[in-house]
Amino acid sequence: MAVSKCARLSGASIGDLLDSVDSVLFDCDGVIWRGDQAIPGAPEVINSLKKGGKRVFFVTNNSTKTRKMYADKLGKLGFNAREDEVFGTAYCSAVYLKTVCKLDGKVYLIGSNAMRQELETMGIQAVGVGPDHISGVQNDWANVPLDPEVKAVLVGFDEHFSYAKLNRALQYLCNPECQFVGTNTDTRLPLEGDKAVPGTGCLLKAVETAAQRQAQVVGKPSSFMFKCVASQFVLDPNKCLMVGDRLDTDIMLGSSCGLKTLLTLTGVSTIADVEAHQRSGCPIRQEMVPDYYVDSIAEILPALQG
Ligand code: PLP
Ligand code: CA
Repeated sequence: MAVSKCARLSGASIGDLLDSVDSVLFDCDGVIWRGDQAIPGAPEVINSLKKGGKRVFFVTNNSTKTRKMYADKLGKLGFNAREDEVFGTAYCSAVYLKTVCKLDGKVYLIGSNAMRQELETMGIQAVGVGPDHISGVQNDWANVPLDPEVKAVLVGFDEHFSYAKLNRALQYLCNPECQFVGTNTDTRLPLEGDKAVPGTGCLLKAVETAAQRQAQVVGKPSSFMFKCVASQFVLDPNKCLMVGDRLDTDIMLGSSCGLKTLLTLTGVSTIADVEAHQRSGCPIRQEMVPDYYVDSIAEILPALQG
């Protein structure tokens, strides 16, 4: 077991860690905000980091907003943030389809209007947003009208997800040339008071099961999220810190890309989760053990003001 891992950050060690990096990547939900409320002290932390010359990026698996919508939300909550510092999976999926899949055609989109907008900004036309009202008997389902220009299926968060959409995705994916991409695999979205709702991972699993194919996943822990930031801003992984609240997405992404990792306990994962990974002895699970942890990112504020 790597004994030096998962050290509690405090006092001088916070300053030492910050001195060793020039860029900080923040997960959003559970780290800088919860739902529509900023984590107390988070705006001051981010604004002070920037004032001190650090580059800051916002990296979220949530596909329901465009970069512009995130920049507006960040501004309203008191964060000093620019649109080009935001890397959400709606935007990153559009970049992925354009640069990695080299898509030449339309997308059948199970997702939000925000995703459609990000695709359009990248010059990709999307079909399928909104409710799909087709209903019928078994024989008709296999003969729904399809758009011959669709060359990829993209699955993100979609509150209109239905049997009709699942079926249409399957009909497109029966063509082995049709590419298959998912925004992220988070299966549950935690809410206040131990409540939760189904995340995009549930929708993606349904489509994967129906199509008997595995999607290419864009969101954390896929290294594409880091590559997307690193390709636009020259980043040295050794000089980057990834701050997150989930071990299986944020910390895994940081470890696998060679970034320093910091867990904050204001979100999903707990120290008991970390200890279970450490005890398991399983090499992959060690990648979910962060280098450091804090109770909240507000704890790094004194080091920035001092
Ligand atoms: N996906 C959806 C639809 C969400 O609402 C959220 C959190 O609010 C997430 C994913 C996880 O986002 P993050 O990566 O910022 O924790
Ligand atoms: Ca999170």
